[in-house]
Amino acid sequence: MSSAVPAPLFPPRRILMGPGPSDIAPSVLAALGAPTVGHLDPYFLKVMDEVQSMLRSVFQTTNELTMSVSGTGSAGMETCVVNLIEPGDRMLVCVNGVFGGRMADVAARCGAEVTKIERPYGEVFTPEEIEAAVKQCQPKVVGIVHAETSTGALQPIEEISKIVHNAGALLLMDCVTSLGGLPVEIDKWQVDAAYSGTQKCLSCPPGLSPVTFSKAANDAISARKTKIASWYFDTLLVRNYWGQSRAYHHTAPINMNYALHEALRQTLAEGLPARFARHKRNHLALRAGIEAMGLSFVVAEQYRLPMLNSIRIPDGADDKAVRGRLLNDFGIEIGGGLGAMAGKVWRVGLMGETSTPRNVLVFLAALEGSLAGKVPAGAGVAAANAFYGAN
Ligand SMILES: *Cc1c(COP(=O)(O)O)cnc(C)c1O
Repeated sequence: MSSAVPAPLFPPRRILMGPGPSDIAPSVLAALGAPTVGHLDPYFLKVMDEVQSMLRSVFQTTNELTMSVSGTGSAGMETCVVNLIEPGDRMLVCVNGVFGGRMADVAARCGAEVTKIERPYGEVFTPEEIEAAVKQCQPKVVGIVHAETSTGALQPIEEISKIVHNAGALLLMDCVTSLGGLPVEIDKWQVDAAYSGTQKCLSCPPGLSPVTFSKAANDAISARKTKIASWYFDTLLVRNYWGQSRAYHHTAPINMNYALHEALRQTLAEGLPARFARHKRNHLALRAGIEAMGLSFVVAEQYRLPMLNSIRIPDGADDKAVRGRLLNDFGIEIGGGLGAMAGKVWRVGLMGETSTPRNVLVFLAALEGSLAGKVPAGAGVAAANAFYGAN
């Protein structure tokens, strides 16, 4: 009996301008196709050492416990929470978008006594709000999202970090979308635990989650009275593989770590300041184009993310039809609104490899075409070109 075997895959070439994944450099894709070695092969152990050292540079930290968790960004979130939280511990979670909400859910599943403070989507928390909440709930851990991909808002961290530490708590920060696109200074800001993802501004396929833990976080993990509730994400076990003893825990995704190695190499070769400046420049060019078309941003100017632009859908435009046209006629993926913002906003990503003048101009031209009759023809492209000419 023979049944038809599916045809081999020939995925279409897209321009990935959504909330992640972002476009991948050819050298990173090539790294995925390199020969697989064993996960205890001395060659791979050297790869891991270099990944670890480059992650420390990108995170701006000297934290010993810095590594890639096998899983996407959400696995990094679970790793941080499940290691820091014992059942009954109090955790304060700041929720101003989908990912803060997810962190609160994860914390509750780990047995934390969760207190949530909330801000409307698109806004950020003030230090005063955090201070009042920390005083009231006296948490062991405060969780906050640096770059809320669901809304496009950038949360300032430094002042909040001082408040959290003055109250004797640990600061857990989601930097899935910010790492590699915006300054993320783990040591300077005294962040105790942080997780990211590979497929946003690091421009690597999804599959690994960089994490880092401070000494204080490590001490809290060592002082636990109960076992870490997850075997897979137990850093006390995993660190024996990343550390000197190289003890088998689980099989590291070998080729994904090759890809991350190359993506980190590319990031550091470009230089972090240059990379942040590139993200900012392309964001400002997009903004010039968007505003010239008469469209507006959701987030107040000083809190806008350069890598994730939330743009209000203009009256009379059909959300799904426009996104469908962008994808089918132009090969451009953008994101729709999540949660409370569904149907109201488009989320336009300019992450990592995607953040180029070419993509900004092609997107603006395609959007103008998709909104023909509703926006002035050519105005967006002209404004972005003028911006690039002057900056
Ligand atoms: C994408 C994202 C996540 C989740 O990462 P996955 O890779 O989808 O698991 C968490 N937090 C933020 C801010 C994100 O943008």
